[in-house]
Amino acid sequence: MAIIDCACDIEFASELANYLRNHDLDAKSEEALVIVNEEEVEQILKLFLKETNRSGYNIRRIDSTNLLLAREVPIEDFGFLRCEMCGYVVSNEEELLTHRRAHGIQLL
Ligand SMILES: [Zn+2]
Repeated sequence: MAIIDCACDIEFASELANYLRNHDLDAKSEEALVIVNEEEVEQILKLFLKETNRSGYNIRRIDSTNLLLAREVPIEDFGFLRCEMCGYVVSNEEELLTHRRAHGIQLL
């Protein structure tokens, strides 16, 4: 058995449960959780994401039973900026400029 947590997305969970049932799996959704009578579900979850054109979703196995299926939100969506040289995250343009200068000093 596997329990897939759809990160509070009830509609997503019922769609996923339907999809799994259409693939001969015994699945049901309870709120944002999908309970399925199969342990190795990663492969079919990937297929589901692909067939429903959902990009940016990430399947994470928490333990032998629980999986989390959630959208990875890019940090840029929160107004943060990322240094393109090292991936360091700053909260505004000014900090990014200061940070970039540190790379310049290191390079000299
Ligand atoms: Zn940097």
